[in-house]
Amino acid sequence: MKKLCLGIESTAHTFSIGILDFQGNVYSLINDIFIPEEGGLHPALVREQHLDNFMQIINKALSEAKISIHKINLIAFSQSPGLGPVLKIGAWVARMLSQVLKVPIVGVNHCIAHIEIGRLKCNIKDPLTLYVSGGNTIVSAFESERYQIFGETLDLAIGNMIDSFARDAGLQHPGGPKIEKLAIKSNNYIPLPYVVKGMDLSFSGLYTAAKYLLQSVDYGNKYNLNDVAYSLQETAFGMLTEVTERALAHTEKKEVLLTGGVAANQRLQSMIKSISIEHDARFDVVPLKFAGDNGAMIGWAGILRYKAEGGHNISETMIKPKERMDKITVPWRS
Ligand code: AMP
Ligand code: MG
Repeated sequence: MKKLCLGIESTAHTFSIGILDFQGNVYSLINDIFIPEEGGLHPALVREQHLDNFMQIINKALSEAKISIHKINLIAFSQSPGLGPVLKIGAWVARMLSQVLKVPIVGVNHCIAHIEIGRLKCNIKDPLTLYVSGGNTIVSAFESERYQIFGETLDLAIGNMIDSFARDAGLQHPGGPKIEKLAIKSNNYIPLPYVVKGMDLSFSGLYTAAKYLLQSVDYGNKYNLNDVAYSLQETAFGMLTEVTERALAHTEKKEVLLTGGVAANQRLQSMIKSISIEHDARFDVVPLKFAGDNGAMIGWAGILRYKAEGGHNISETMIKPKERMDKITVPWRS
């Protein structure tokens, strides 16, 4: 009998259940995504949706995988980092399942899970990873026993920044794919604040400047929305590419992995691919099903930790909303 893990993702907008075996074969993956009617992610509203829907999502995942819940051997959940009220739902569901089913539980760092599912699905051993999503912007690689952070945003996450700009331009959430479609129609670059500080990035000045440009768009004079979308992408992705390239030169990794929801963007893919080629590194994008937040990646990272050092005690399963990935041991790679 194959051993099975049920992975629970619950750090932000997505409540997701993935069921997979200890070899990494995924039998089902069901996502429930909170989409704000207006404004950003309000933790209390996200929490309510996750609380309303979690049982339905678990049942759907079990029926798609065609297994009974009693066949599950391990529960993994996203323990860090994320929105406190939302993390609590996943942790609560995980603790309940683990105790009712009498199976081990293991808490997982969400950012490490993004890298591990990429290593598994792209068959990559030791990548430099650019993880770009609604809530995170991190350049990371394994060094000195940890997933070290070589660069990160100092303020807004790239996905959040693009979504906020799109919202200002009257586009519905999620804005990323819509901005990409508009950007393709222009090559009229309008200079915008490009802010790289050491190895870190700052997107707030870029966001504000792009938002002001929208006012000129209204007058219909020099630029249109396509031009602003194009310039926003070129500037932000140029910053990401610069920091990724410097980390690549420093670490001398031979593989580059692009992951997170923003990894779907073709322009970003081509920029990161080009620097990978220049540094003789293999480039890959995590399959989009596994690039955004999902329960399968949590399950896989949970399996890796469980195999290396067993499960967590229930007293170790409290959520850690601010925990950084570079503070966590990675016994399966050490
Ligand atoms: P995640 O937080 O990893 O689930 O990813 C969600 C984020 O990915 C949102 O901010 C989306 O706007 C963004 N996103 C999805 N597709 C694209 C795209 N084609 N270009 C840019 N951003 C995207
Ligand atoms: Mg994520």
